[in-house]
Amino acid sequence: MAGFLKSSRLLLRKTTDLRVYTPRRNRVKEKWAATRVKHPPTRLALQHFDATYGAQLGELWPSVRVALLTEKKYGALLNNFSIESSIADLQAQRCRDFISNRYGGGMFLFTLCDVADYLRSVYPSFVSVAEPSEVGAEKQTREADADDQQMSPPPLSPNIKCFVFPRGDVTRFKPARPDKHGLLGYYLMDAASVLPCLALNVQQGHTVLDLCAAPGGKTLALLQTQLIRFLCVNDASVSRTSRLKKVLHSYVPKQFLTDEQLRVTSFDGTKWGEIERNTFDRVLVDVPCTTDRHSLLEDDNNIFSRSRMGERRRLPQLQVELLLAGIQAACPGGEIVYSTCSLSLNQNLSVVEQAVYLAQENFGIQLQVVNLRGLTKLFGDTFCFAPDLRLGEMVVPHLAANFGPIYLCKLRRLT
Ligand code: SAM
Repeated sequence: MAGFLKSSRLLLRKTTDLRVYTPRRNRVKEKWAATRVKHPPTRLALQHFDATYGAQLGELWPSVRVALLTEKKYGALLNNFSIESSIADLQAQRCRDFISNRYGGGMFLFTLCDVADYLRSVYPSFVSVAEPSEVGAEKQTREADADDQQMSPPPLSPNIKCFVFPRGDVTRFKPARPDKHGLLGYYLMDAASVLPCLALNVQQGHTVLDLCAAPGGKTLALLQTQLIRFLCVNDASVSRTSRLKKVLHSYVPKQFLTDEQLRVTSFDGTKWGEIERNTFDRVLVDVPCTTDRHSLLEDDNNIFSRSRMGERRRLPQLQVELLLAGIQAACPGGEIVYSTCSLSLNQNLSVVEQAVYLAQENFGIQLQVVNLRGLTKLFGDTFCFAPDLRLGEMVVPHLAANFGPIYLCKLRRLT
């Protein structure tokens, strides 16, 4: 009996050790990829941002991080084409148009003084990576502009209205209602996304190119000016271009969407310089980027997924090519606004620096960086801007004003 118990215990121990009883030919070597902990893309994005923005923003990063991980605030871009104005409705909800209703008094400084001071001390050091020639060009412009333009309001595209809830108020907008012609009263978007359109300074009779336009929020903002003679709207993605067309039809009457006034295309924007050079008065280059907020909150279609790693690494190169194409498409004297919704230095300042350098080297195009400091002064009560960014301006997310990130830089073609 004792012998039987001993042998059955032995058998039990052996059967629990599967390797012993799996025939050698059926054994499978454990693969590292199968056993590795799988992180969702949102987690990978957070790890990446912690490493890069932690170093870039220093002590400010935790507060930006919290804001990025929290529901963002929207703005309601008013549709001037809708015959039933939504203004009264929006005002009744305590919203204000941050553009015409600006205080312009002071920067967004209420509890951010310490943050601003901190940023002021950090930014000059972390943006000291440019090529000497590029820095020189930019510095010259800055110095020339410094005294007179530093705080004077820059010329803005007129007629654009965007309503926001007061600071700290996180009420959501109701969905926009259609008027009797089926046109919606407003378009919900990150209010900071309107800034590149304002900075583009669209004026009567201008020809405008929106190089990466879908889904169309900024196109819609540009159309609100009702001043554009010809608007060319492009996006490489055919499906996103179809979405853009639907947006246009929901907001703009047919008579403004004729071939004489509007062209919608799906070309690779990097090739634009080969298609149409020296043509447009204004060019908006709102490039694909790491879309920081989306990357932290949505696993679907996330640029941090392992399958899109190559695409993500190639982003800065694509951005340079797109900006360079936009610069070539603008006419001499024309203006170009480059924008992203990322905090990344590599996708913002470095891209502008490289494109300015390459435009001069490869095409003999001289550019001036247009000072947008006045813009930050004007809208400093609505958005939290990173102070003293060496090139361009950036809206930094903050819990009390949870817009952005949006980076914008304006260039003027001198030749
Ligand atoms: N401006 C748009 C708006 O306000 O709704 C958002 C543009 S989104 C940030 C970037 C867009 O660039 C995407 O729709 C993407 O399809 C497009 N894109 C990516 N690569 C492109 C390329 N090579 N040429 C043109 N568009 C491109």
